[in-house]
Amino acid sequence: MSIPSRCDPGRRRFLRGGAAALGLGLAAGLGLGRARAEGLRPVVVCIDPGHGGHDPGCIGAKGLREKDVVLDVALRVGALLEAVPGLQVVYSRRTDVFVPLAQRLQLGIRQRADLFLSIHADAFPERDVRGSSVWILSERGASSSAARWLAQSQNGDFWDSSAALAGSRELHDVLLDLSRSAASSAATRAAQLLLRALAEVEDLHAAQVQKANFVVLRAPNVPSLLVETAFLSNPEEEKRLRDPDFRALLAQSISDAVLAHFVQAPPSDSRWSSARHAIAPGETLSELAARYGVRPNVLRLANGLVSAQLPAWGYLRVPILHA
Ligand SMILES: [Zn+2]
Repeated sequence: MSIPSRCDPGRRRFLRGGAAALGLGLAAGLGLGRARAEGLRPVVVCIDPGHGGHDPGCIGAKGLREKDVVLDVALRVGALLEAVPGLQVVYSRRTDVFVPLAQRLQLGIRQRADLFLSIHADAFPERDVRGSSVWILSERGASSSAARWLAQSQNGDFWDSSAALAGSRELHDVLLDLSRSAASSAATRAAQLLLRALAEVEDLHAAQVQKANFVVLRAPNVPSLLVETAFLSNPEEEKRLRDPDFRALLAQSISDAVLAHFVQAPPSDSRWSSARHAIAPGETLSELAARYGVRPNVLRLANGLVSAQLPAWGYLRVPILHA
Protein backbone atom coordinates (compact mmCIF):
# COMPACT_ATOMS: atom_id res chain seq x y z
CA MET A 1 0.00 0.00 0.00
CA SER A 2 1.44 3.34 -0.99
CA ILE A 3 0.36 5.95 1.52
CA PRO A 4 1.79 9.03 -0.23
CA SER A 5 -0.24 8.23 -3.36
CA ARG A 6 -3.37 8.55 -1.24
CA CYS A 7 -2.54 12.06 -0.10
CA ASP A 8 -4.55 15.08 -0.97
CA PRO A 9 -2.77 16.66 -3.96
CA GLY A 10 -2.96 20.04 -2.26
CA ARG A 11 -0.63 18.77 0.43
CA ARG A 12 1.69 16.74 -1.73
CA ARG A 13 4.36 19.43 -1.87
CA PHE A 14 5.02 18.80 1.83
CA LEU A 15 5.66 15.17 1.13
CA ARG A 16 8.15 15.84 -1.68
CA GLY A 17 11.18 13.70 -0.89
CA GLY A 18 9.49 12.62 2.29
CA ALA A 19 7.84 9.45 1.04
CA ALA A 20 10.67 7.25 2.27
CA ALA A 21 10.68 9.02 5.62
CA LEU A 22 6.94 8.53 5.84
CA GLY A 23 7.25 4.81 5.15
CA LEU A 24 10.15 4.43 7.57
CA GLY A 25 8.35 6.36 10.27
CA LEU A 26 5.31 4.17 10.03
CA ALA A 27 7.33 0.97 9.90
CA ALA A 28 9.31 2.01 12.96
CA GLY A 29 6.13 2.86 14.82
CA LEU A 30 7.16 6.46 15.37
CA GLY A 31 3.64 7.69 15.85
CA LEU A 32 2.08 10.18 13.47
CA GLY A 33 2.74 9.64 9.79
CA ARG A 34 6.02 11.39 9.06
CA ALA A 35 7.46 13.52 6.31
CA ARG A 36 10.32 16.00 6.02
CA ALA A 37 10.13 19.09 8.24
CA GLU A 38 11.96 21.58 5.97
CA GLY A 39 12.14 24.27 8.64
CA LEU A 40 8.55 24.01 9.76
CA ARG A 41 7.52 25.07 13.26
CA PRO A 42 5.62 23.11 15.91
CA VAL A 43 1.90 23.62 16.37
CA VAL A 44 1.54 25.85 19.46
CA VAL A 45 -1.28 25.38 21.95
CA CYS A 46 -1.67 27.87 24.78
CA ILE A 47 -3.43 26.47 27.85
CA ASP A 48 -4.93 28.92 30.30
CA PRO A 49 -6.20 27.54 33.62
CA GLY A 50 -8.59 30.21 34.93
CA HIS A 51 -8.11 32.22 38.14
CA GLY A 52 -5.32 31.33 40.63
CA GLY A 53 -3.56 32.87 43.63
CA HIS A 54 -5.81 35.30 45.50
CA ASP A 55 -8.59 34.68 42.94
CA PRO A 56 -10.18 31.29 43.74
CA GLY A 57 -12.86 31.56 41.03
CA CYS A 58 -16.12 29.97 42.11
CA ILE A 59 -16.29 27.70 45.14
CA GLY A 60 -18.54 24.65 45.51
CA ALA A 61 -20.78 24.04 48.52
CA LYS A 62 -18.29 21.42 49.75
CA GLY A 63 -15.40 23.85 49.31
CA LEU A 64 -13.92 22.74 45.99
CA ARG A 65 -12.25 25.78 44.42
CA GLU A 66 -12.39 26.49 40.71
CA LYS A 67 -8.75 27.57 40.55
CA ASP A 68 -7.61 24.15 41.82
CA VAL A 69 -9.88 22.02 39.63
CA VAL A 70 -9.11 23.89 36.44
CA LEU A 71 -5.36 23.85 37.10
CA ASP A 72 -5.48 20.08 37.52
CA VAL A 73 -7.55 19.57 34.36
CA ALA A 74 -5.32 22.00 32.43
CA LEU A 75 -2.11 20.23 33.47
CA ARG A 76 -3.64 16.91 32.44
CA VAL A 77 -4.62 18.33 29.04
CA GLY A 78 -1.12 19.78 28.69
CA ALA A 79 0.56 16.48 29.57
CA LEU A 80 -1.51 14.65 26.95
CA LEU A 81 -0.71 17.23 24.28
CA GLU A 82 2.99 17.45 25.19
CA ALA A 83 3.27 13.74 24.45
CA VAL A 84 2.24 14.39 20.84
CA PRO A 85 5.13 14.98 18.40
CA GLY A 86 5.26 18.32 16.61
CA LEU A 87 3.14 20.05 19.21
CA GLN A 88 4.31 22.63 21.74
CA VAL A 89 2.30 23.57 24.83
CA VAL A 90 2.62 26.85 26.71
CA TYR A 91 0.77 27.64 29.93
CA SER A 92 -0.47 30.90 31.41
CA ARG A 93 0.14 29.33 34.81
CA ARG A 94 1.31 25.94 36.06
CA THR A 95 0.96 26.68 39.76
CA ASP A 96 -1.44 28.44 42.10
CA VAL A 97 -0.53 31.99 41.09
CA PHE A 98 -2.58 34.97 40.02
CA VAL A 99 -2.12 35.98 36.39
CA PRO A 100 -3.86 39.15 35.13
CA LEU A 101 -6.26 38.61 32.23
CA ALA A 102 -4.32 40.92 29.91
CA GLN A 103 -1.17 38.88 30.52
CA ARG A 104 -2.99 35.67 29.59
CA LEU A 105 -4.26 37.28 26.41
CA GLN A 106 -0.80 38.59 25.51
CA LEU A 107 0.75 35.16 26.03
CA GLY A 108 -1.31 33.72 23.18
CA ILE A 109 -0.36 36.61 20.90
CA ARG A 110 3.36 36.56 21.75
CA GLN A 111 3.57 32.80 21.35
CA ARG A 112 1.68 33.07 18.05
CA ALA A 113 -0.52 30.29 19.39
CA ASP A 114 -2.49 28.18 16.95
CA LEU A 115 -5.08 27.70 19.68
CA PHE A 116 -5.68 29.42 23.00
CA LEU A 117 -7.72 27.34 25.41
CA SER A 118 -8.98 28.82 28.66
CA ILE A 119 -10.30 26.26 31.17
CA HIS A 120 -12.89 27.16 33.81
CA ALA A 121 -15.69 25.75 35.95
CA ASP A 122 -19.07 27.43 36.12
CA ALA A 123 -21.42 28.58 38.88
CA PHE A 124 -25.05 29.65 39.02
CA PRO A 125 -27.43 30.56 41.87
CA GLU A 126 -29.74 27.62 41.04
CA ARG A 127 -28.09 24.43 42.23
CA ASP A 128 -29.57 22.11 39.61
CA VAL A 129 -28.02 23.94 36.66
CA ARG A 130 -25.34 21.70 35.17
CA GLY A 131 -23.19 20.78 32.20
CA SER A 132 -20.36 21.99 29.99
CA SER A 133 -20.31 24.94 27.65
CA VAL A 134 -17.79 26.21 25.12
CA TRP A 135 -17.32 29.90 24.38
CA ILE A 136 -15.76 31.95 21.64
CA LEU A 137 -15.47 35.71 21.29
CA SER A 138 -18.53 37.62 20.14
CA GLU A 139 -17.95 39.80 17.08
CA ARG A 140 -18.65 42.89 19.13
CA GLY A 141 -15.82 42.06 21.48
CA ALA A 142 -13.56 41.30 18.55
CA SER A 143 -14.14 44.74 17.09
CA SER A 144 -13.49 46.67 20.27
CA SER A 145 -10.46 44.60 21.21
CA ALA A 146 -9.01 44.92 17.72
CA ALA A 147 -9.33 48.67 18.00
CA ARG A 148 -7.56 48.57 21.33
CA TRP A 149 -4.77 46.41 20.01
CA LEU A 150 -4.34 48.71 17.06
CA ALA A 151 -4.06 51.64 19.42
CA GLN A 152 -1.43 49.79 21.44
CA SER A 153 0.44 48.32 18.52
CA GLN A 154 3.78 48.60 20.28
CA ASN A 155 2.62 45.97 22.74
CA GLY A 156 2.72 43.00 20.42
CA ASP A 157 5.26 41.56 18.01
CA PHE A 158 2.41 40.65 15.72
CA TRP A 159 1.40 44.24 15.19
CA ASP A 160 4.97 45.45 14.82
CA SER A 161 5.69 42.93 12.10
CA SER A 162 2.36 43.30 10.31
CA ALA A 163 2.61 47.10 10.43
CA ALA A 164 6.14 46.97 9.03
CA LEU A 165 5.00 44.65 6.26
CA ALA A 166 1.95 46.68 5.50
CA GLY A 167 3.62 50.06 5.42
CA SER A 168 0.29 51.80 5.74
CA ARG A 169 -2.48 52.04 8.26
CA GLU A 170 -5.10 50.95 5.71
CA LEU A 171 -3.24 47.80 4.74
CA HIS A 172 -2.56 47.16 8.39
CA ASP A 173 -6.31 47.29 9.06
CA VAL A 174 -6.97 44.89 6.18
CA LEU A 175 -4.38 42.45 7.54
CA LEU A 176 -5.98 42.75 10.95
CA ASP A 177 -9.42 41.96 9.52
CA LEU A 178 -8.12 38.96 7.58
CA SER A 179 -6.29 37.65 10.61
CA ARG A 180 -9.30 38.15 12.85
CA SER A 181 -11.69 36.45 10.50
CA ALA A 182 -9.35 33.45 10.03
CA ALA A 183 -8.91 33.17 13.81
CA SER A 184 -12.63 33.45 14.35
CA SER A 185 -13.55 30.66 11.92
CA ALA A 186 -10.80 28.40 13.31
CA ALA A 187 -12.11 29.07 16.83
CA THR A 188 -15.66 28.21 15.75
CA ARG A 189 -14.56 24.91 14.19
CA ALA A 190 -12.46 23.97 17.22
CA ALA A 191 -15.28 24.93 19.60
CA GLN A 192 -17.73 22.69 17.75
CA LEU A 193 -15.31 19.75 17.98
CA LEU A 194 -14.81 20.43 21.68
CA LEU A 195 -18.56 20.47 22.30
CA ARG A 196 -18.95 17.15 20.49
CA ALA A 197 -16.12 15.60 22.49
CA LEU A 198 -17.43 16.90 25.83
CA ALA A 199 -20.96 15.70 25.05
CA GLU A 200 -19.61 12.15 25.28
CA VAL A 201 -18.42 12.52 28.88
CA GLU A 202 -20.62 15.23 30.38
CA ASP A 203 -24.05 16.81 29.91
CA LEU A 204 -23.97 19.94 27.80
CA HIS A 205 -25.23 23.07 29.47
CA ALA A 206 -25.52 24.65 26.03
CA ALA A 207 -25.67 22.49 22.90
CA GLN A 208 -24.39 25.33 20.69
CA VAL A 209 -21.13 27.23 20.86
CA GLN A 210 -21.67 30.30 23.05
CA LYS A 211 -20.33 33.79 22.39
CA ALA A 212 -19.19 36.40 24.87
CA ASN A 213 -16.76 39.24 25.19
CA PHE A 214 -14.34 37.51 27.58
CA VAL A 215 -11.02 39.35 27.84
CA VAL A 216 -8.90 36.23 27.35
CA LEU A 217 -10.61 35.51 24.02
CA ARG A 218 -9.86 38.90 22.50
CA ALA A 219 -6.60 38.18 20.64
CA PRO A 220 -7.60 38.99 17.06
CA ASN A 221 -4.92 36.72 15.55
CA VAL A 222 -5.29 33.68 17.85
CA PRO A 223 -8.20 31.21 17.63
CA SER A 224 -9.40 31.32 21.24
CA LEU A 225 -11.84 29.16 23.21
CA LEU A 226 -13.06 29.08 26.75
CA VAL A 227 -14.49 25.88 28.20
CA GLU A 228 -16.70 25.81 31.27
CA THR A 229 -16.17 22.20 32.27
CA ALA A 230 -19.10 21.80 34.70
CA PHE A 231 -20.99 23.67 37.45
CA LEU A 232 -19.29 23.79 40.84
CA SER A 233 -22.57 25.23 42.16
CA ASN A 234 -24.25 21.90 41.39
CA PRO A 235 -23.47 19.49 44.29
CA GLU A 236 -23.44 16.46 42.00
CA GLU A 237 -21.05 18.13 39.56
CA GLU A 238 -18.84 19.38 42.39
CA LYS A 239 -18.54 15.75 43.46
CA ARG A 240 -17.67 14.68 39.93
CA LEU A 241 -15.11 17.46 39.54
CA ARG A 242 -13.46 16.30 42.77
CA ASP A 243 -12.98 12.85 41.24
CA PRO A 244 -9.55 12.50 39.55
CA ASP A 245 -11.00 9.94 37.13
CA PHE A 246 -13.58 12.44 35.90
CA ARG A 247 -10.93 15.14 35.55
CA ALA A 248 -8.84 12.70 33.52
CA LEU A 249 -11.85 11.97 31.33
CA LEU A 250 -12.48 15.68 30.78
CA ALA A 251 -8.81 16.24 29.96
CA GLN A 252 -8.79 13.37 27.49
CA SER A 253 -11.87 14.73 25.72
CA ILE A 254 -10.41 18.22 25.52
CA SER A 255 -7.08 16.90 24.23
CA ASP A 256 -8.83 14.69 21.64
CA ALA A 257 -10.83 17.66 20.38
CA VAL A 258 -7.71 19.85 20.12
CA LEU A 259 -5.89 17.17 18.12
CA ALA A 260 -8.95 16.53 15.93
CA HIS A 261 -8.99 20.26 15.17
CA PHE A 262 -5.38 20.13 13.95
CA VAL A 263 -6.09 16.99 11.91
CA GLN A 264 -8.91 18.91 10.24
CA ALA A 265 -7.00 22.16 9.85
CA PRO A 266 -3.23 21.90 10.41
CA PRO A 267 -1.51 25.33 10.42
CA SER A 268 0.09 25.68 6.98
CA ASP A 269 3.63 26.52 8.19
CA SER A 270 3.66 23.93 10.96
CA ARG A 271 5.12 20.45 11.30
CA TRP A 272 1.62 19.07 11.07
CA SER A 273 -0.25 18.52 7.87
CA SER A 274 -2.93 16.08 6.94
CA ALA A 275 -3.61 13.62 4.17
CA ARG A 276 -6.56 11.67 2.88
CA HIS A 277 -6.46 7.96 3.57
CA ALA A 278 -8.59 5.81 1.26
CA ILE A 279 -10.39 3.28 3.42
CA ALA A 280 -9.53 -0.26 2.32
CA PRO A 281 -11.92 -3.18 2.87
CA GLY A 282 -11.60 -4.61 6.37
CA GLU A 283 -9.67 -1.69 7.87
CA THR A 284 -10.76 -0.59 11.34
CA LEU A 285 -10.65 2.79 13.04
CA SER A 286 -8.35 1.55 15.80
CA GLU A 287 -5.96 0.04 13.24
CA LEU A 288 -5.76 3.34 11.34
CA ALA A 289 -5.50 5.37 14.54
CA ALA A 290 -2.51 3.25 15.61
CA ARG A 291 -0.94 3.66 12.18
CA TYR A 292 -1.25 7.44 12.25
CA GLY A 293 -0.32 7.79 15.92
CA VAL A 294 -3.50 9.24 17.38
CA ARG A 295 -6.33 7.85 19.49
CA PRO A 296 -9.28 6.39 17.57
CA ASN A 297 -11.43 9.12 19.12
CA VAL A 298 -9.28 11.81 17.47
CA LEU A 299 -9.76 10.30 14.00
CA ARG A 300 -13.45 9.77 14.71
CA LEU A 301 -13.98 13.40 15.80
CA ALA A 302 -11.86 14.83 12.99
CA ASN A 303 -13.85 12.90 10.41
CA GLY A 304 -17.28 13.48 11.92
CA LEU A 305 -17.94 9.76 12.40
CA VAL A 306 -20.82 9.03 14.77
CA SER A 307 -19.42 5.67 15.82
CA ALA A 308 -16.17 3.72 15.71
CA GLN A 309 -17.53 1.88 12.67
CA LEU A 310 -15.73 2.96 9.49
CA PRO A 311 -17.78 3.43 6.34
CA ALA A 312 -17.21 0.66 3.76
CA TRP A 313 -15.52 3.09 1.42
CA GLY A 314 -14.41 6.71 1.25
CA TYR A 315 -11.59 8.74 2.74
CA LEU A 316 -10.40 9.61 6.21
CA ARG A 317 -8.51 12.78 7.03
CA VAL A 318 -5.34 11.64 8.84
CA PRO A 319 -2.44 13.54 10.45
CA ILE A 320 1.05 13.65 8.93
CA LEU A 321 4.00 14.87 10.98
CA HIS A 322 6.91 16.57 9.24
CA ALA A 323 9.72 15.36 11.46
ZN1 LIG B 1 -13.84 30.89 35.95
